[in-house]
Order: sequence, then C-alpha cells, then structure tokens
Amino acid sequence: MQDENHYPFQVKALPYTYDALEPVIDAVTLGFHHDKHYQTYVDNLNKAIAPYLELHKLTVKELLMWVNELPREIQTSVRNNGGGVYNHELYFSSMARKEGQKPKGKLAEAIDRDFGSHEKWKEEMTNAALTQFGSGWAWLVKGHGDNLYLLQSCNQGVPNLKNTIPILLIDVWEHAYYLQYQNRRNEYVNGWFDIIDWNRAETRYMEK
Ligand code: MN
Repeated sequence: MQDENHYPFQVKALPYTYDALEPVIDAVTLGFHHDKHYQTYVDNLNKAIAPYLELHKLTVKELLMWVNELPREIQTSVRNNGGGVYNHELYFSSMARKEGQKPKGKLAEAIDRDFGSHEKWKEEMTNAALTQFGSGWAWLVKGHGDNLYLLQSCNQGVPNLKNTIPILLIDVWEHAYYLQYQNRRNEYVNGWFDIIDWNRAETRYMEK
C-alpha cells in the first residue's frame, strides 16, 4: 500500500461527512475547501518535488522543517504548497461534529494555567484570528516545557516545527468562509470554537 506521508502525496479523506460541521461550516464551503483548495496544494507540492528523487522519502513535516536546506528553486513552492498540505490536514482533522465540547484533561489544565481560563483563551484566540491581516492562520501551539501560546502565520506559513507542536489552528483565508459568511470572519471564528475536536487536540498536547 502506498504511504500517503511521502511523495506522491495524496488528498486525505475528511474524517466526517461534508455536512457534519453544519451549521458552522456548510457542506458547499467545506466541499470546495477540501476538494479544490487542499487538492491544489497537494498537486502543486507533488509537481514541485517530482524531479527531486532524494526528496521523495520525506514527509510534509520534514520538507517544511528542512525547507532552508532544499534546492533554492523549490523553497518557495514547498513553503506555500507544503504548508498548504500540512495546515489543511491538521485543520480538517481538528474539527468534529461535537458541538459545545470543552477542553479536557491535561490540555484543559494547561489552558487554565497559561491563559487563565477556557473563556480567556477563547478571547485571545479570537483576537489572533481576527487580527491576522489578509490570508493566514491563528494557532495554539505547545513549546518547550509544555507551555501553550498563540501564534499567527501569513499565507501557508507554519510555526517552527522543530521546537513547537501545533495543538489547534484556524484557517482565516477567505476561501475558508467567504461562500457562507462573506466578510463576516468574526461569525465563522466564533462558530469554530463549537466544532473543535478536543480529543485530538489533547492527543497532540500529550506528544513529546
Ligand atoms: Mn484553507
């Protein structure tokens, strides 16, 4: 069986149906996002690294971690398209039809410790998502010492994957919400908190 974590990369199926996240994200928006936008990043990443046989054994994460060591002519493409693949796979797999779920276990404790409370974290995460100018992402990540903090990235940028573990991320590119919400990014962001898959988030938090 082909290993999807190496070249040629393949689109990973959604872990739920297209309408599973309604009403927060409708089936049309999710369908375009997954089937068209994410697919394009996968196709373009494959195109970029196709001629470089020595890179075919690397995962997306490894390509991104070592992007500065890659042949200069493909660095931008790997940043944009590799980042697009990595970010979307994490984003789609971080949501679930479980409205109103709250953080639990060790992750809940860490959120209380580092942000004051779940509500306070929501405020700060909302702020990060709304103030990311133009296309990009807002992130909850874990650094050394298990501390949590927020980041923003432009376009398909990723956190430093050598020393942080992404816990959650929200896509604030217009393609993530415009069909449904038009310019109302705040409504999309507000709804996103209700469809976070906290089980998966905690599994990532427990990673070393
Ligand atoms: Mn997107």
